[in-house]
Amino acid sequence: MPSRKFVGAHTSASGGVFNAVANAQEIGARAFALFTKNQRQWVAKDLDTETIDKFKRALDDSGILPKHVLPHDSYLINLGHPESHKREKSINAFIDEVQRCEVLGLDKLNFHPGSHLKQIDEDECLDKIAEAMNITLDKTNGVSLVLENTAGQGSNLGWKFEHLAHIIDKVEDKSRVGICIDTCHMFTAGYDIRTKEVYDKTWDEFERIVGFNYLMGMHINDSKKELGTHVDRHDSIGKGFIGLDAFKYIMNDERMDDIPLILETIDSSIWKEEIELLYSLQV
Ligand SMILES: [Zn+2]
Ligand SMILES: [Zn+2]
Repeated sequence: MPSRKFVGAHTSASGGVFNAVANAQEIGARAFALFTKNQRQWVAKDLDTETIDKFKRALDDSGILPKHVLPHDSYLINLGHPESHKREKSINAFIDEVQRCEVLGLDKLNFHPGSHLKQIDEDECLDKIAEAMNITLDKTNGVSLVLENTAGQGSNLGWKFEHLAHIIDKVEDKSRVGICIDTCHMFTAGYDIRTKEVYDKTWDEFERIVGFNYLMGMHINDSKKELGTHVDRHDSIGKGFIGLDAFKYIMNDERMDDIPLILETIDSSIWKEEIELLYSLQV
């Protein structure tokens, strides 16, 4: 029986989005993430028909399903920005990102919730994020907005399950909102997953506060920093403070079936081996 796990990595789309597909195939990935534009710039030219066709054909040929592709938005976007004109700039860029996914035939966009920049309180920032998501959902079709949990570095929100639940609660169309859990962020945010006992406890808490029905993807990263440090430094699988056991639990947990499981680990030259390693953990 083929594995119900869809493991891949955030591959490079340099030279065109279709290259992300080829780069995924090269490492034996069954899922992948990509930036559909330069992640460090505000504006990008629209995807042209030729590029879109090439991407769709490459994806079709690869056998990777659109639902196992998890595009990531630009790092510049802050939907919770305290200043309204800057938030507006973010919302416009975010809508453009969602539309890029739409034309590529993809159904999800992964993003970091936002930061209060110490200018407004947490609840107000979370409300602004949800409001920005509602505006975006109104203006787009067919793409789910997938909130990623953060490490809670600086004033980044979304590190507590309660933050994610707060936002989901205020999103009107709950059929188009999802969660991506990054294991490194989860760990440095203070959620331990290193033994079966704490793994179960952490995910029970996730189920109680957020709900597995919202889990649409995961980022599979080990951590260079200790539990609860709120620092976001990824490490290769099994080489950081999380260690291999946690990834073994994930690979054998049915609740993570059929969603993209994406490596964002630091050494892309060993992604192929890391993917093989993860599959080898399945019993
Ligand atoms: Zn991540
Ligand atoms: Zn990270």
